[in-house]
Amino acid sequence: MKTVRSMVLVSSDADSMSHGAQDVFDGLQKEIQSYKLEDEISLRMVNDMGRHDAVPMVIVYPEAVIYGPVTPGDVHYLVEEHLYKGRVAESLRAPTRELTGRIAWLSARKGTLPAEQRIVLERVGLIDPTSIEDYIVHDGYQALGRVISEMSPAQVIAELEKSGLKGRGGAGFPTGLKWKFVAREKATPKYVVCNADESEPGTFKDRLILEGDPHSIIEALIIAGYTVGASEAYIYVRGEYKLAQQRLDLAILQAREMGFLGQSIFGTPFNFDIHIHSGAGAYICGEETALIESIEGKRGEPRSRPPYPTSNGLWDRPTLVNNVETLANVPAILRHGEDWFHQFGTPNSPGTKAYTILGNVNATGLIEVPMGITLREVISIYGKGMKHNGTLKLAQTGGSSGSIIPAVLQDTPMDYESFGRAGVALGSGALLICNEETCVVDLACVLLNFFRNESCGKCTPCRVGNLRALEILNNIAEGVGSMHDLDVLASLSENLYQLSNCGLGQTAGSPLRDILRYFRAEVEAHILLKVCPAGVCPMSGKRYPG
Ligand code: SF4
Repeated sequence: MKTVRSMVLVSSDADSMSHGAQDVFDGLQKEIQSYKLEDEISLRMVNDMGRHDAVPMVIVYPEAVIYGPVTPGDVHYLVEEHLYKGRVAESLRAPTRELTGRIAWLSARKGTLPAEQRIVLERVGLIDPTSIEDYIVHDGYQALGRVISEMSPAQVIAELEKSGLKGRGGAGFPTGLKWKFVAREKATPKYVVCNADESEPGTFKDRLILEGDPHSIIEALIIAGYTVGASEAYIYVRGEYKLAQQRLDLAILQAREMGFLGQSIFGTPFNFDIHIHSGAGAYICGEETALIESIEGKRGEPRSRPPYPTSNGLWDRPTLVNNVETLANVPAILRHGEDWFHQFGTPNSPGTKAYTILGNVNATGLIEVPMGITLREVISIYGKGMKHNGTLKLAQTGGSSGSIIPAVLQDTPMDYESFGRAGVALGSGALLICNEETCVVDLACVLLNFFRNESCGKCTPCRVGNLRALEILNNIAEGVGSMHDLDVLASLSENLYQLSNCGLGQTAGSPLRDILRYFRAEVEAHILLKVCPAGVCPMSGKRYPG
């Protein structure tokens, strides 16, 4: 009988793969065989390990020794020294560093760091994402089996509604309700779409779910198809996410071979299949109706709503669109039940949220924590405090389309209701932490420049409004703004919100609103004193030409 004494994990995120992770893995496999250790050593590729300064990385468990960067030429010594002789190969150890992400989580299991609560990232970094067997061993496809053999579509919807799961793409719409809207439509065929066009600057949680646990999304899509009465699904993946696409392609093939996709799934009349659609690089295609247009082969421009995709979506048929993180919650909820899900988070926003932490903190990376945690806790526990003992000035939540949150709100619970009451948005999950050296005018310039470039140009308030706002901010940054400009910016912010056709234009005014609401004195200093208090703005020369 096989008795595994060590587990060897090789990082296989996009960064590691481009630095030769596959060759390292193949070399380890050969060396382990040549020492006849294959029955004692479990070797697997896992996804992102939470740090990128020493890739490809190899972790040997149970000792949790981290090696990196490992080259194919290091492999023989590593196997002989550590796996054969049982001594740590000191010269190959990764530089000592504050632990983050996957390594922090693995270490947390040994009681050295505060543990996150992982639901959607539960298997990421732990299983081999190219192995359907590994997924099945870790409770994969259990929820699908339960749903198809024991539950009616109405029961699935009821369970999701009771769980209180809300869409994690940013809007926070109740997931069960959305499924119900599509299920009750009479028109056929119906479609399910996974929005994997993750393009918010600083957000990469969906990529790591897709790369590290692709079968969880396949399983969720099959459950969604069964529940709403669809027999086809599309995964719209951001074009740059090549590794995620490869892993999804392989996962779909494996699921077909196992009979989880195709005709008569589990011997029932239910047929279902999944197609991958690669995006072409437009930020706006993350908006669900632009995404639908893009799948149909048209220019990626948002549609006017209503009607909504739930009744008139892909090819004008009822369509369920959910984002990756939302879908990744579904199998876990159906496996454990809604009471289990309510253990985490707050009463009105149960469950967890995956965040990418960026900016002026000591430890950046990906975490998944219960809803309702505060910004202060994120910074102090997972960010390991502000870099160089700096002071928090603001945080930008949710990528470009989120909110600028001042330090005074850092104790506000991060859930949909508390943030809504505070007039700020949780967004998609990026947390950009900024210290006192950040200038709010400069930050707004960066954001408006982004929106100006990414606007699809279909409607005037967004196409022209973003450009005008950028021009005014440029003037303020250059010391040639006027106090009247502030009234114009406030008016532009309101008009963008009220008159734009889609979420891009509606949220583009948020940075203007937020800097005028929370940092007006700093903006006025640029105009009245011709000084940038943070010392960032040049007060001459255009950096973001109109
Ligand atoms: Fe296009 Fe902007 Fe109008 Fe949205 S708001 S449809 S991105 S121009």
